[in-house]
Amino acid sequence: SVKSQGRNGYAFFDPTMEAKSLERILMENELRKAIEQEQFHIYYQPKMDIATQQLTGMEALVRWIHPELGVISPGRFIPVAEETGLIVELGEWILREACKQNKKWQDEGHQLKVSVNLSARQIFQKDLVEMVTRILGETGLAPAWLELEITESIFVKMEEATVVLKQLRDAGIQISIDDFGTGYSSFSYIKSLPVDTIKIDASFIRDIHHNQESQAIVKAIVTIADSLQMNVIAEGIELDDQAEALQQNGCVHGQGYLFSKPLATADFEHFLLNR
Ligand code: C2E
Ligand code: MG
Ligand code: MG
Ligand code: MG
Repeated sequence: SVKSQGRNGYAFFDPTMEAKSLERILMENELRKAIEQEQFHIYYQPKMDIATQQLTGMEALVRWIHPELGVISPGRFIPVAEETGLIVELGEWILREACKQNKKWQDEGHQLKVSVNLSARQIFQKDLVEMVTRILGETGLAPAWLELEITESIFVKMEEATVVLKQLRDAGIQISIDDFGTGYSSFSYIKSLPVDTIKIDASFIRDIHHNQESQAIVKAIVTIADSLQMNVIAEGIELDDQAEALQQNGCVHGQGYLFSKPLATADFEHFLLNR
């Protein structure tokens, strides 16, 4: 077979690998162009108090609107941006846009917190804290109105991550752990983390209305968060039954298509004013 011949020292052409790296190269070039040509847009997804249906904040989610290909989801280009390092430049742009926009909404009387996602690469970039505080200064947004969403993956480098998060919190910025429960040993380290909010991953919400294990997990997360004086929010709520099950298990805050999809700026403004 091809495989056994390969072991005898021949290098074989693997068409799938070749296609992948070619796609990456094309994507990298397109990403660079996209930054220059401002093809990125920030959408905002409401965060709600589940019981009162009150708006409590919004998550900034980047969209790439390519002139020929249309909307490209972040799941496709963020990993490439991370691998190539372009995430540093793109991430700074995203943060500035979100802070600038929230400052505008603040000035119009809407006291809402904006949450911005940071990838692992950004957490470990040297000047992150400096960059974030500089952008707050430039845009005039008070740090209390900014939250950064990070994932558990950064706690593989526990000490380094903890130092960065502490500096951010000392600057008055809030920290949320995104996709909680999917990553690295969640429960064992949670007590020592400098975070304000736990965001329960959508995988526990999907079946919560008919799965007792998901209910038990959510209830346990809420209990632990309460005792550590952390907030909890559930992501990916699509159904009334899921919202109800969350409330029954003590989860007050939520986000998901049930309330609203991520919205373009103008549509979010409409949501703000017309609820
Ligand atoms: P995430 O931060 O966990 O964001 C939640 C994702 O779930 C978003 O997908 C959102 O549109 C989607 N979502 C929200 N509610 C529902 C729902 O009820 N049902 C379903 N099925 N999906 C829902 P999106 O916008 O495609 O983003 C995917 C991931 O890409 C994000 O996951 C985040 O990890 C990353 N990402 C998005 N924007 C940024 C950004 O500005 N910077 C960085 N570094 N990463 C970003
Ligand atoms: Mg997020
Ligand atoms: Mg998430
Ligand atoms: Mg998620």
